[in-house]
Amino acid sequence: MKILILNAGSSSLKYQLMDMDGEKILAKGMVDRIGIDGSTIRQTAGDKVFKLKEPVPNHTDAIHLMLKALTDPEKGAMKSMDEISAFGHRVVNGGERFTDSILVTDEVKETIREYFVLAPLHNPPNLMGIEACQEAMPDTPNVAVFDTSFHQTMPKVSFMYGVPQEYYKRLKLRRYGFHGTSHRYVSKRVCEFLGIPVEGSRIITCHLGNGSSLTAVKDGKSIDTSMGLTPLEGVLMGTRSGNLDPAIVQYIANSDNMTVNEVIDMCNKKSGLIGISGISSDMRDIDAAAEQGDENAILAQDMLAHSIRKYIGAYAAVMGGVDVIVFTAGIGENNAHIRTKIMRGFEYLGAKLDLEKNKTREEAVISTDDSKVKICVIPTNEELVIARDTLAIIQG
Ligand code: ADP
Repeated sequence: MKILILNAGSSSLKYQLMDMDGEKILAKGMVDRIGIDGSTIRQTAGDKVFKLKEPVPNHTDAIHLMLKALTDPEKGAMKSMDEISAFGHRVVNGGERFTDSILVTDEVKETIREYFVLAPLHNPPNLMGIEACQEAMPDTPNVAVFDTSFHQTMPKVSFMYGVPQEYYKRLKLRRYGFHGTSHRYVSKRVCEFLGIPVEGSRIITCHLGNGSSLTAVKDGKSIDTSMGLTPLEGVLMGTRSGNLDPAIVQYIANSDNMTVNEVIDMCNKKSGLIGISGISSDMRDIDAAAEQGDENAILAQDMLAHSIRKYIGAYAAVMGGVDVIVFTAGIGENNAHIRTKIMRGFEYLGAKLDLEKNKTREEAVISTDDSKVKICVIPTNEELVIARDTLAIIQG
């Protein structure tokens, strides 16, 4: 059975075709610059590469182009689009309504639309992706998998902000948390990998990519997470500031005659690693500059590690200890140097990194044999979670 997994952004559409018999990836691709000059599609299916540059004015056209690439007689991955049994969509914010993945109905679409105000950059294109699939293949089911669902188990003490409760009731203002699909996958996978029961486990998952978040996972459930109402809160990221004193927004707006929206935009797009280093939002560039002795690059590395260390300490406190710390995503999986900076001096907590084992980029335990806390690298696989959820839902 073939399932097509989609991640529709405002100007891009990433997709992956999976054969669920054996969970094999048949094709992977991306339509880029939707609605902008110079749209392209690039798809790989095994060693076959499909590339094309042609105008893609909207998401419906992007879906049609994707289907054309997937069924291309020479470079495609299937004969007919009827081979697709279901579409699985990443949807960023499912609010409080969706605690699990769900089959898309008109009512589900309406709720995703209701949450546009909470995720204005993500939910609208996510819904466009769903509607474009429905238009192209009306008889094929669509499943929505939400970044926020996994965090719906957080207790009120974690998800409420200390502002008048009226805002929670009237504006749905609360911590939602993101990267839930990844935190769910790696927290479950690490238990299988270590052969420990989920029940009774205290795990801190560190998803460190362009956007980064940490989650405290107790008994397999998210009980606190670093991202908040939006993905701006938490640790220092590629272009996002992470935690700030909210009065900073007012201070900059007043001093530089900027609107609140402009200041928040700066915090989202020009801050974090790029803002501190002045070099790049990509950790590889920062590392290269730091190796040459660039002080700002070293400061960016240290600030990133410091902000993550604070959450590890906080979540150990929240869970009354920690058994496993998991690193995942671009930086978490690949950057041994940053992992070393993060884990330095955690011996008091019983967590000791093995510098030799830490050289891995694969699924591995990277703590010393005598470390009470297991430190692990677990490559994330959000697409697989979406595919599995989609399959489970269409099979009832
Ligand atoms: P996104 O959050 O966009 O999914 P990723 O999870 O790919 O991003 O993370 C991007 C970050 O991970 C970048 O800072 C990049 O330097 C780092 N990264 C990604 N792949 C590698 C790699 N193979 N080696 C080293 N660093 C990597």
